[in-house]
Parts: sequence; C-alpha cells; structure tokens
Amino acid sequence: DTKPLHHFLIKNAERYKGKKALHFMGKELSFVELYTQAKKLACYFQSLGLEKGDRVAIMLPNCPQAVIGYYAALMAGGTVVQTNPLYMERELEFQLNDSGATFIVCLDILLPRVSNIKGNTSLKHTIVTGIKDYLPFPKNLIYPYIQKKQYHMLVKVEQSEDTHVWGAIMEHSTTNYHPVEVDVKEDLALLQYTGGTTGNPKGVMLTHHNLVANVQMSKAWLYKTREGKETVLGVLPFFHVYGMTTVMNMSIMFGSTMVLLPKFDVEDVLKTIQKQRPTLFPGAPTIYIGILNHPDLKKYDLSSIEACISGSAPLPIEVQQQFEHVTGGRLVEGYGLTESSPVTHSNFVWTKRVNGSIGVPWPDTDSKIFREGTMEEAPIGEVGEIAVKGPQVMKGYWNNQEETDNVLKDDWLFTGDLGYMDEDGYFYIVDRKKDMIIAGGYNIYPREIEEVLYEHEGIQEAVVAGIPDPYRGETVKAYIVKKPGINLSEAELNSYCRENLAAYKVPKIYEFRDELPKTAIGKILRRSLVDEEKEKLQ
Ligand code: ATP
Repeated sequence: DTKPLHHFLIKNAERYKGKKALHFMGKELSFVELYTQAKKLACYFQSLGLEKGDRVAIMLPNCPQAVIGYYAALMAGGTVVQTNPLYMERELEFQLNDSGATFIVCLDILLPRVSNIKGNTSLKHTIVTGIKDYLPFPKNLIYPYIQKKQYHMLVKVEQSEDTHVWGAIMEHSTTNYHPVEVDVKEDLALLQYTGGTTGNPKGVMLTHHNLVANVQMSKAWLYKTREGKETVLGVLPFFHVYGMTTVMNMSIMFGSTMVLLPKFDVEDVLKTIQKQRPTLFPGAPTIYIGILNHPDLKKYDLSSIEACISGSAPLPIEVQQQFEHVTGGRLVEGYGLTESSPVTHSNFVWTKRVNGSIGVPWPDTDSKIFREGTMEEAPIGEVGEIAVKGPQVMKGYWNNQEETDNVLKDDWLFTGDLGYMDEDGYFYIVDRKKDMIIAGGYNIYPREIEEVLYEHEGIQEAVVAGIPDPYRGETVKAYIVKKPGINLSEAELNSYCRENLAAYKVPKIYEFRDELPKTAIGKILRRSLVDEEKEKLQ
C-alpha cells in the first residue's frame, strides 16, 4: 500500500505543521511553508500545461528551491530529472535531450548556460530562482558557481512567455493544483542519471515505490528511528541519488529537520554542526577525511552527531575510527548504487557492525554473490559479482533496453561490483569490475593497494589506477595527496609498499598531486586520470 513520495510531505505538513523542516544559511522553513510553496509551484507547472509524466529538470545546489522544485514536480504529476549544476553546456544538452525534459528549474546564475542550448532541446519553460529568493542579504555566500564579489552584478531576470521568475510565482500563484492519480509501481518519480564515474551517465528509471521503499528500509540502519526528532546534515548534494534519499527524502518522510549546505566547505560544515547540532550526518569518505584534516578541528564541538552512514566509496578503517573518536557518534559503512535508489546494504548503528564490511542487506532486500558471468551462486568467501533484488531496484535504464538487459536478469540487479560474503552474511567489496587492473596477467584490485596507502601516516588521499602499458597490458600507478607539511619521497613510499604488498601489486609509478579530480559527491575520478595517461600516449 505504498503511497506516492509527495504524500509524505502532505501528511507531515498536517502532522508537524510549524515544525522546522529545513534550515538554509540562517533561513528556516516549516513543514507547512514547504508544502504551501510546493503547492504553488505545482499549480504553476500545471497552469503552464505540465502533464503527467512530463520531465522536469532541476538544476540547483542544495537550497530550499531544490526541495520545493522536486516535490512540486511530483505533486503536479511530473517526473524529476536531477541535473548537476556544475554541468557545462555539452553535458546539460546531453541530459536534457536524453530525458526529453520540457521544464527546467535553475539557479539564476546558470540561466545563460540553459539559454545557450535551449534551442537544441525540447525545453519549453525555464523557472529561474536565486539565492535572493530566500536570503535577502546573504552575508556568507558560498555558491560554488559564483564569486562573492560578482553577486551584486547579477542581472535581473525578466518574466516572459517561457522564462518564469520564482519570486513572482510564490507571490501570485494559487495553491489549487490538481492532484494527479499515481500508479506507484509504474509511474516514474525520477530519472536519475548515474554518477558517471565509469562512463557516460545513464538515465535510471525510479518509481515512487522504489524511492519510498528505500527510505522506509533505512529505519533498519538507525534501528531506533526517532520520528520527528532528528536533525540531518545535508552536505551531500540532493541532485545525486545518495543525498536525495538519505537526507532529503528521509527528512521529509520521517519529519526530521534538514540542514542544507550548498557546497562542501569543511569550515562551513564544522561551523554548521556546532550551531545547528545535527544528529545524523550521511556522507562519503572524502567528506569525513576532509573534516579530520582540518587544522582547527579541535576548536569545534561536534558532539551532537550520533549516527553517520558512509557510502559511495570504500571507507578506510582509520577514518572511521578517528571520526568516531572526534565526534563520539557512530560511523558505519553502507553501499548502494543509483540503480537501487541507492541503498542496498549497510552496517547498523546500534547493533553488530563489522569494520571493512558494507554490512548486510537492508530489510526486504536480497543479495547474492554470483560467479562472474553466470547465474550460479558463489560459495561463502569466494569473490564474484554482487547482485541485489528488492523493491528499491530500478525499472530499467531510460531508452536503453540493451543496457537494461545487461544488468537486470530475473529481477536481479547485477551491480558491476566484485565482492564476497562471509559466513555471518556480511558483505565485502573487493572492487568494481571495471576498475580491476590486469598487469602482466595478474588481477589486481586498486582498492587493496589504496587501503595500504591510506594506512601511511603521511598520506591524505590516494587513488590507484591501471594505466596503459605496451608490455604488461596495464601498469599500476598511484596518485598521492600528502598531508600538509609532510615530506615524503617516491623511494620511501616504494619501500613502504614493498613491505606491505606482494611485488606484483606494488605501484610502478607514483605521482604526487595537490588534489585529485572528483565527482559531485567526492568520489575520486579514476577514469579521468587514466584518460590523461591515454592522451599522453597519443
Ligand atoms: P557510473 O555508474 O555512471 O560509472 P557512479 O559509480 O558514480 O557512476 P553511482 O551509482 O553513484 O554511480 O555509484 C555506485 C557505485 O559506487 C557502486 O557500484 C560501487 O562501485 C560504489 N560504492 C558505493 N558504496 C561503496 C562502498 N561502501 N564501498 C565501495 N564502493 C562503493
């Protein structure tokens, strides 16, 4: 008897009324305010002719409009297409055309990007909003897309037939939208593009049922959900499936307050934790690592944090232990992918957890290890491909039956990740199939080498990739970011690796960098490092 996702905003506006639903840089909105504004926008969408199933792109960083735009699109019967606000014209055009979006809600500063490519897409209406719509005098502007000094130079956007101004909508639109009948298992709530770590992003079709089920299952992670009592820190971007589910949708469905940060800036995160006292902090390893390496960390009181879930990439054990020590809260590892809304496994906060493991499948979720390329289950301890089955698994890829058939077999989603299960049913990731390095006939998993590197006290970040090699097929190369003020030579690193790894796994090349390329949620972009190497060879 699942309800559509937006039902929970409607229900909680009745139940929690004036309770704070979100906090954004000093501005607060209650559940009723959030709902009322979403209704106004839903009504406006319908007045522009939005029909059931029409795609609505949302191109915003974390801000109140991102939540309102998303829920308004659902209430009006639309399908949300989340768009990374860092996308440049080429990427934006690809996504708009692939999804066939006819509406877009975007940040004022991004309007030129949209206008330049609009003619090549099926976009009909652009709704423009800016930070000023919620913060009349932003003191501490930290949008990644605009320098503070440029702020006052922003051009005023004029309302026209196809360009619509947020402020005017909120002022003049009525709240009388027409509720749309939703088939929760069939109708798409979302077209969510994959992170693009390994290739071109693919449009993942997620239904209302998928998204609602994944949030409901998350109760298991926390074990004791204190409905209406949590404050959730929203550093993860909502345009990515991970932040969308574990911060935005979870807060709306459980009546929590979400604290939104438009950008990951360590100092800002620390100040916000101290002031807003969040209890839950979903994040990714690079976020926790950034915090632990801040020079003034000790000055801040982080004791409000009770539970954190880390996903998207392996969580080094060192990081987990240090973070728990600093906050006094619990940090557990979980796992998921866009194709499963995203979470499928995690350790649980208050019960047994196993360091280095992604935990056990969430309720209603089945998971198996299959021998590679078969539907034959691998015995305990043997490495194979992780597959999952459950109500959070996508309908398929948008307009891409071939890719869908490659990953969905008998309702099992083949994740492309290699791993194994121990006799207690805990799962471990070995690596992504696509990241495995084959050097001189050996299969080498970058993750294992990275773990060794992270244990070195002079290393802040490390990534290992297989780069083309004419003799060995691939060669192991490590990219290293040193901790500030540390002296570390290639020779020292090499002898450290030789002591801790079999010879064939020891990186042949080391490169020190000031920073590493990352995706929107801070996943290190191994692919772009490999591409750099390939370009050098051409
Ligand atoms: P694309 O699929 O387009 O290449 P992406 O990998 O960024 O991009 P996502 O769906 O965001 O797409 O990421 C899912 C992947 O993240 C998983 O398949 C897995 O490889 C990795 N991942 C998630 N959680 C963990 C974890 N705890 N440990 C290791 N890897 C993880």
